[in-house]
Formats: sequence, C-alpha cells, structure tokens
Amino acid sequence: MKGLKYGLMLILLAAVVPLGAVERTGILAPPDIKKQQDAIMSMLIKGNKVHQKHIVRKPGLPLLMMVSCADSRVEPEAIFDMKPGEIYTVRAFGNIVDKSILGSLEYGADNLECHVLVVMGHTHCTALAGALSEHNSPRTTWRSLNLQDLDARLQPAVEAVVDKNLTDEERWDAVVRANVLNTMRTIREQSPELWQMEQDETLKIVGAVYHLDTGAVEWLKE
Ligand SMILES: [Zn+2]
Repeated sequence: MKGLKYGLMLILLAAVVPLGAVERTGILAPPDIKKQQDAIMSMLIKGNKVHQKHIVRKPGLPLLMMVSCADSRVEPEAIFDMKPGEIYTVRAFGNIVDKSILGSLEYGADNLECHVLVVMGHTHCTALAGALSEHNSPRTTWRSLNLQDLDARLQPAVEAVVDKNLTDEERWDAVVRANVLNTMRTIREQSPELWQMEQDETLKIVGAVYHLDTGAVEWLKE
C-alpha cells in the first residue's frame, strides 16, 4: 500500500535526524550501536547538568490530561504552545489505553484535579499503518504477546472504516480518526470513574488529530 510505504519512509527519514549532539545515521552494526548508546548516555548526563542550573520549582499541578501517541514527532506541549509540565500526558504507540493508562488518567482526574482530557491521534501514525497491514495480510511469523495485545487494541479502528472507495491515504487518515474515537469509547466503557466524572461535567473528554504536515490540530466531532 502506498500509505504504508510512506509511513516506512518517514521512519527511515526519522532515523537520519540529528539527536542533539548525537547524529543518527540509520541502521547500525553492533559496535556502532554501543558507541551510539554511550553517546546518548553522555548527552543525557550533560543535558541534565544544564537543566539543573535552570530548574524552576513548580507547584506540580498540570492544566489538563492527554492521551497521545508515543511517536517522537508528536510533542504535546510544543503543539499547543504550552510550557513543559503543563500537560499530564500518558503516551502509548497508537494512543491506545490499557489498565495502567486508565489508572494514570483516574489518578490525574482524582488527585491532580484535571478537568479536561484530550485524546490526540496524529496523521501518518505508523502504529495504525501496522494495524492496517496486519488487517490486510495477517502475519504468520511469531510476534510477542505485548505486540499482539497492542494490535488487538488498534484493530477496532481499522474495522470501523468500511468505505470501499477510499484511497490508501484516505483510509489511513480515516483509521486515525476512528482510533481516537475508539480510545474515547474505551475510556468511558472501562473506567466508570472517568465516565461518571464526564456525566457530572467535572471532566470534559475531547478528541483531536494532530496534522504532522501543517502543525494544525483538528478537533473531532462525536
Ligand atoms: Zn502514532
């Protein structure tokens, strides 16, 4: 599929983007992997020393909660022009929720008193490219139980898009949107606490899609 090839191309492009002082140059042989690991650890240690000089103690209360994809191109605070620490974000590949993520959200709503929860997917999501590919031609090779679990959480979005006239790219976009709505539904179904808060209007749950190409956030209607 053209869309899936595009997703793979983006992964390869991401592999050559410089990472602070560390250059990423694609697929590495084991001795170079070790060198890269050492360079990344040095960068982290050095970066943290700089951070310690500028640390500002904060009250620690975020303004809102967010469920977002783990994709490094999606940076919640930067996308909304907010300061680091203002969003309580739980991230997983494909912005899915499971028990620990729901527990984290319940903690955020209960203890951190967040009254807004944004579920944000993004265009060109490689998690959903993988789910589409799995749907079209299920793999026959071994895959870990964790990856199987992740895929099972993404498949309802793939199955929700039934229009046969879509191009590959349009289908990928439609699945991204369906996946946000599915995550919102899962939150309501599997967390009676969050559902009740939404009923009481002490929690607003909204869905969004971040467009990687333009930086625009599209707010979804349910
Ligand atoms: Zn993604």
